[in-house]
Amino acid sequence: MADTQLMVWIDQDLCTGDGICEEICPDVFLGRDDGLWVVKEEASHFGETIIFDGADGAGHGPEGSRGVARVPDSLIEAVVESAEECPGECIMIEPYSAEIVAARGV
Ligand code: SF4
Repeated sequence: MADTQLMVWIDQDLCTGDGICEEICPDVFLGRDDGLWVVKEEASHFGETIIFDGADGAGHGPEGSRGVARVPDSLIEAVVESAEECPGECIMIEPYSAEIVAARGV
């Protein structure tokens, strides 16, 4: 289990769909079929992969502000760079919170 101090989510209402975030940090950002981007937790960091894309079923979680992914400490720099480069200014970074993790329902 990766150490984590931060969490990240995307406001899909503002996402321009250019994919810059995934180019910078493919372990955290993923393009969805509708051309918008979502966040994920990779099994290589957290033991199982969860994609916060709003889809039903195992391995998926809520999108938007409820779909908050933990950021492995090793990827903090890349996630911060992604947020700085994001043209939609829609990558939201927050401190880690066990309450938020529990509220995700996954
Ligand atoms: S960099 Fe921002 S605007 Fe571009 S795809 Fe990622 S979240 Fe969307």
